[in-house]
Amino acid sequence: MIVTRRAMIAGGLGATALLGGTALTRHALSAGDPPEPALPPVPPGKIRWSNWSGLQSCIPNAIAVPADLNELQHVVRSASGPIRPVGAGHSFTALVPTSGTIVSLDRLNALVSHDPHNLTATVGAGVRLFALGEMLERLGQSMNALPDINKQSLAGAISTATHGTGRSLGSLASAVTGLQLMTADGKVIECDAAENPELFAAARVSLGALGIVTQVRLQNRAPLRVKRQTWFEPIASALAASETHSRDFRHFEFYYVTSTGTAYCIGHNETSEPDTQRKPNAENEGAEQLMMLRDWLAWAPWLRRMVGKGLIANQETETAVGPAWRLLSTDRPKRFNEMEYHLPRDALRPCLEKVIAAVERHDEVYFPIEARFIDADDAWLSPFYKRASASIAVHMGHTQNHSFFFSEIEPIFRSFDGRPHWGKLHSLKARDFQALYPQWRDFTALRAEHDASGRFLNSHLTGIFGTANS
Ligand SMILES: Cc1cc2nc3c(=O)[nH]c(=O)nc-3n(C[C@H](O)[C@H](O)[C@H](O)COP(=O)(O)OP(=O)(O)OC[C@H]3O[C@@H](n4cnc5c(N)ncnc54)[C@H](O)[C@@H]3O)c2cc1C
Repeated sequence: MIVTRRAMIAGGLGATALLGGTALTRHALSAGDPPEPALPPVPPGKIRWSNWSGLQSCIPNAIAVPADLNELQHVVRSASGPIRPVGAGHSFTALVPTSGTIVSLDRLNALVSHDPHNLTATVGAGVRLFALGEMLERLGQSMNALPDINKQSLAGAISTATHGTGRSLGSLASAVTGLQLMTADGKVIECDAAENPELFAAARVSLGALGIVTQVRLQNRAPLRVKRQTWFEPIASALAASETHSRDFRHFEFYYVTSTGTAYCIGHNETSEPDTQRKPNAENEGAEQLMMLRDWLAWAPWLRRMVGKGLIANQETETAVGPAWRLLSTDRPKRFNEMEYHLPRDALRPCLEKVIAAVERHDEVYFPIEARFIDADDAWLSPFYKRASASIAVHMGHTQNHSFFFSEIEPIFRSFDGRPHWGKLHSLKARDFQALYPQWRDFTALRAEHDASGRFLNSHLTGIFGTANS
């Protein structure tokens, strides 16, 4: 049986084999996780907004989906109460919830212009990454790096410094060479390295707290086709070799499969080989089978480890070739909540060892732990600000209790000088960020200048930035 990257990152081993190929109903598979918590009823005439995992939700006064800049300007100028821009709602943190107005740029998603010589493209900021990949291919361009999934909007992705993996590849925000921003008074400001350079440094990663990003200019590259190779390796050897692997592959990452002592490694390199045929989608099956392994063998963790290890030993690995925008990002149908911290590169090994030990004290965890590499950039609030990084991410099923992320895992990340992913769970506040980001005060000053009354803040962002004028 071949283990696909999709199956692995959805949380599984692609492990039909775990149960001898037995087909089980979703009902039976879900028995081990608690039911979704009940939410308060929605008053008539209102709509509930919730994020992808269901952890964050709100009943806003209005959800606006303007068709153009004029309509957006009208929304910004006339909305009473707070305004929160939204992309695809794929952040785990409470960046979006508000009782005021949620603004989606889903209709501002078209190509504005492109330069075939310099391989740049300016696009409406609401474009989703999957559509952008296809759009750029038609222009003879490709993004340099892509995250695990491609459902995000471009503005949403850059606003939290969304990243893929590759030691010489920056986050998506690092590819931005110009922005158009609508501020709290409805003014439209262009910024890049030459025009409003401070605003440009701040706005590239700005959590929707400076204004609404309406257009983005990207520095792309020529179309990229990649070959994927996957393999299993004992975690100790994967950790020892991770530096080398990260140099051998343009994109390298690995997943530690909990309770097995084994890492699943994934490398992608540029290739001119012909495309391979795509395999049927097996990712949900992988996550659900791992969950069953947890549920059925929870009474005997030693047996669970044995079964897991035995199965991994017999796995074949996967090779695939295709356009990067199709291969690097995949689907994640099994919902989860996640915490990810970005660390100095040399902290990867000692930090991951501690995280594994802490996670393995919890037999209910079946999602693998993910490790990736990201290059430094210079956006003021980028977690990669002037620091080449490695990241570690932990996941729990969306209805599982993930409180130990905060009590046990986050202190480990923090002890290694970690900076949290803006879109993933963390408990940090203004004072913590001040110590982590050299340009923090410059950002907050600029934010207060452009939005003195805090129209773009919600309670989560007030906690992050302190008072509106701090
Ligand atoms: C299944 C899954 C897989 C993921 N994989 C990765 C990964 O591989 N790498 C990674 O780094 N992250 C990953 N993430 C996290 C995700 O990429 C980020 O949280 C990203 O910000 C979500 O984009 P979005 O379009 O859904 O934005 P939202 O979550 O809707 O919004 C994110 C932020 O952007 C702001 N925003 C949105 N639109 C605008 C705008 N037009 N102007 C100004 N601000 C705006 C919002 O106000 C908010 O602060 C993943 C998340 C999920 C659920």
